[in-house]
Amino acid sequence: MKRLHGKVAIVTASTDGIGFSIAKRLAEDGANVVVSSRKQSNVDAAVDKLKKLNLEVLGVKCHVGLSEERKALFEQTIQKYGKLNILVSNAASNPAVGGVLECEESVWDKIFDVNVKAAYLLAKESLPHLRKSKGSNIVFVSSIAGYDPFELLGTYSVSKTALIGLTKAAAKELAPEGIRVNCIAPGIIRTKFSKPLYESESAHDEALSRIPMGRLGESDEMAGVASFLVSEDASYITGEAIVASGGMTSRL
Ligand code: NAP
Repeated sequence: MKRLHGKVAIVTASTDGIGFSIAKRLAEDGANVVVSSRKQSNVDAAVDKLKKLNLEVLGVKCHVGLSEERKALFEQTIQKYGKLNILVSNAASNPAVGGVLECEESVWDKIFDVNVKAAYLLAKESLPHLRKSKGSNIVFVSSIAGYDPFELLGTYSVSKTALIGLTKAAAKELAPEGIRVNCIAPGIIRTKFSKPLYESESAHDEALSRIPMGRLGESDEMAGVASFLVSEDASYITGEAIVASGGMTSRL
């Protein structure tokens, strides 16, 4: 039997990039998966692609910063599949580049609203559903920049550090209930979001110089980590961050 057979998962920001790969992999591993992002046309296109692979998915438009859209995400999930076992909170925003102390207040607020507050609210709002099943899971998508801040992504990096803290705090609170909370800290992964880090030859060379494995990561390489974390194979792991960065330094 597939390892996520019978599970229901929501993956936010899952119509492209890392989120799409995670949604696809969880569905391949047997879960019913709810795919979502801000634009209905992207949701429709992602659902179409996944259905063509014979995967069981539902699409729901959800900008994670909008409470009514988060509410609809949970409502439609329960309406269609009757329960929720897994939340993967993957959305992030980075509206401006620059050092953390150069950041405008409005940019700081936007980054923290989407990257941290919405992730926190999604986790909180998912709990009534997660509590109804045994062995439920939350996974946050942080970043290697949460450990070792990228100079030009100052505030974004701090928001990703906050997610590692949120993972640890929520994991401790929910451990007695059997709900595990973990996070993934990707390195530099080839997606639209990270394009400025590799699209010019000089940026690409600079990125590669920081990656011991000598290549960028691919979204599908993050998907297996997510699938592992929410599976019974990780049944004694909570409050952890798995760094998947081709060897970029995070900690001892
Ligand atoms: P991506 O390829 O650009 O995909 C972004 C996805 O997020 C799209 O489906 C987009 O669809 C959706 N989205 C954007 N803002 C949203 C919002 N407010 N609410 C809901 N959906 C939203 O990005 P990615 O590189 O896969 O990044 C995914 C996560 O990985 C982020 O948390 C990012 O910080 C993290 N990460 C990425 C890297 C990397 O190198 N790529 C490294 C470390 C961590 P719509 O436009 O339709 O909303």
